[in-house]
This record gives sequence, C-alpha cells and structure tokens, in this order.
Amino acid sequence: MIPFNKPHITGRELEFISDAVACGHISGNGKYTKLCQKLSEESWGFHKCLLTTSCTDALEMAAILLDIAPGDEVIIPSFTFVSTALAFVRQGAKIVFADSRSDHPGIDELAIEHLITQKTRAIVVVHYAGIAVDMNPLMEVANRHKIPVIEDAAQAIESYYLYDNQKKALGSFGVLSAFSFHETKNIQSGEGGMLVINDPKLVQRAEIIWEKGTNRAEFFRGEVNKYGWVDVGSSFLPADTIAAFLYAQLIEIKDIQKKRIDLWNNYMRLFEKGDNVRIQLPLIPEYSTNNGHMFYLMLEGIDIRQRLIVHLKAHGVLAVFHYLPLHLSTYYKDKHDGRSLPYSEHFADKLLRLPLYYELTFEQQELIFTLIREFFEKN
Ligand SMILES: *Cc1c(COP(=O)(O)O)cnc(C)c1O
Repeated sequence: MIPFNKPHITGRELEFISDAVACGHISGNGKYTKLCQKLSEESWGFHKCLLTTSCTDALEMAAILLDIAPGDEVIIPSFTFVSTALAFVRQGAKIVFADSRSDHPGIDELAIEHLITQKTRAIVVVHYAGIAVDMNPLMEVANRHKIPVIEDAAQAIESYYLYDNQKKALGSFGVLSAFSFHETKNIQSGEGGMLVINDPKLVQRAEIIWEKGTNRAEFFRGEVNKYGWVDVGSSFLPADTIAAFLYAQLIEIKDIQKKRIDLWNNYMRLFEKGDNVRIQLPLIPEYSTNNGHMFYLMLEGIDIRQRLIVHLKAHGVLAVFHYLPLHLSTYYKDKHDGRSLPYSEHFADKLLRLPLYYELTFEQQELIFTLIREFFEKN
C-alpha cells in the first residue's frame, strides 16, 4: 500500500517535547515558540513571525489586522483551499474570485486589475504547490492601487521568487503571510501555522490579537507594568509542546527539502521519458524555485482521471484530485457574482496528485509510473 501522504518524523520531536515539559512552560509563547519564530525570521528574512495553531488561524489574524469589515471586497483565487476565503468571509467581506492561469493553477496575475473596485481591501495570493505567483507584476498593480497583498504561503515553505539574479523567499512580499504546518505540508507539527508580519507597523497589534486581545506579550517583556484587555483577538497561540515538535522539523528542513526535491525530479524524469501525449506535466515558471511540495499530472478530463484513481487504488496506490473551485461551492455559489472561471474548473477537473512524502522510494515511484503507463495502454 502506497499512501498519498505519510507525515515525516525527524527523530528529535519527543526529545524537544520532553525538554519543553521539563522547562515548566508548556502554554503558548514559551522557549520553543521563540526558537521557531527566530529561526524562521533569520532563515527567510521575515520581519516578524508568530506561531499559530493553523494556517487558517494565521489568515484569520490577517483579516482582523487589516480591519476587513462588511461591505469590503477581497480578491482571492477560486482554485484554493476553503480557509483562504473563510478567514475574510468571517469578517463579513465579499469574495471576488479570480481565475487561475492557463498554464498553472496559481492566480492569473493579469486578471486581477480589472477586478479591483473602490471597495477592494485586500488581494490574497496562493503559491500553489509551493510555486511562486509572479510577484513583481502583481505587487506593481497592488501598490499602484494601494491595496495590501496577503500571501497564503501554506504550501510554500523554503520556496523563492527569482528575478534579476536575486531570490526572495515566498512569504516576504505580502504585508502579511500565512504558513501551514499541517501534517500534509513539507514540515509539520500535526496541526500548526505561522503568521508573518512584514509591515513593522502591524507587529504590536498582531501580538495583541494573538493573545486574546490583551497586551500580555508586552507585559512579559517588561514594556508595560500591567496587562489587560486592549483590543479584539482570540487564542491563536499553540502550546509550546507543539512548537517543540515543529522545532525538530525546522532544524532538519535542508534534509527534508533535498529528499522531496529528489523525489519530485525523479517523477519528472520518469514521466518525461514515458512521453505520454495524454499527460501534461507540471510547469515550473522561470521566476520560481520548486520546493517539492507536490507532484501532479494534468489529464484529459474528469472521467479518465476518476478511472485512473480507481485503477491505482486497486493496485494499492492512493492518488488524489485537489480543490473544487470555491465559486462553485455549496456555501458560496449563490453569493458569487456569476462570472465563469474556466481555468479554475480546468485544474479542478483534470489535476491528479501523486504520492510524495519523505519515505517514498524510487522503486515505489517506478511502480506508480508503470501502473499509469499500463492504464493508458488499455484506456
Ligand atoms: C493547507 C492549506 C491551508 C490550511 O492550512 P491549515 O494549517 O490546515 O489551517 C490553507 N491554504 C492552503 C493553500 C493550504 O494548502
């Protein structure tokens, strides 16, 4: 049996959790929370990081921080996970869905400007499969209209945007960015997330929202002599035991990334050699690195994809499709403005994700490739 995903354990998770317990501070914002935040700030050049219990929570914090309110419009790709939109819907925003590019599931940068109105309060981009959205043209449009950009970087840890012989970490462009450490992501703590605050003016309020609307973080740094209720907020901090688990992953990120990228490249090598005209392989644009988060195939349609899923499953291999477009979702379809988003539907219907996780072997990849080749010989 080859599962779709298998969470990787680096080996030091329990050691760090034991240490957190021995330290006597296992609630939020303890030793390991601070270690993870500092390491992330140093590794990727983020201004300030706050661990959260999920990426969904980090996105909710972003929506609160930007004071998104009823009547506001937020531009979001339709081909994404529910949380990207949910965080803004909870604040009363109207979601204006953008389509995907024709050659990649990421948001169509050129389709954004004509969606901007007087009411647009934020643009949210998703770096699908850890592949960068083309950030320079996107930021140019956003800056010209003075609209803040938020990056849903849930899948984009240790991935970069490339331009003018430079590289800049994904998550460092938006005023705010959100990462996920859910067990399906490259590094993980079961559930977990992180808010990145790149605008220094938002840091103080972010800490307050993080700590249930209180100025507790400032108090423990000795900056105020008592703490109390000063703003809205919620309990967005993970326990330090979660952070201890995450720290064991963060310090091994080079090893994890090397493994995942090797596996990704091996899939690519197999399928390129297979030369099957009925399968399209993923595009890595010249402006993006590949962080090995996901390997997918583009098939001819929903029917052949379903039959291939059944075929692989019958042979013990779990391959899965991905998002149903949010503009067609049960919850939002009646609220959507009715525009059709053909590329979002194209990727929803034809994209198939193959197993990709640390313990996967080249032999297993060979088997998956062979099963797919045999399927196309008969179908
Ligand atoms: C995984 C994911 C999320 C949600 O992350 P959680 O940590 O589970 O809340 C949000 N957006 C995208 C694009 C994701 O891939």
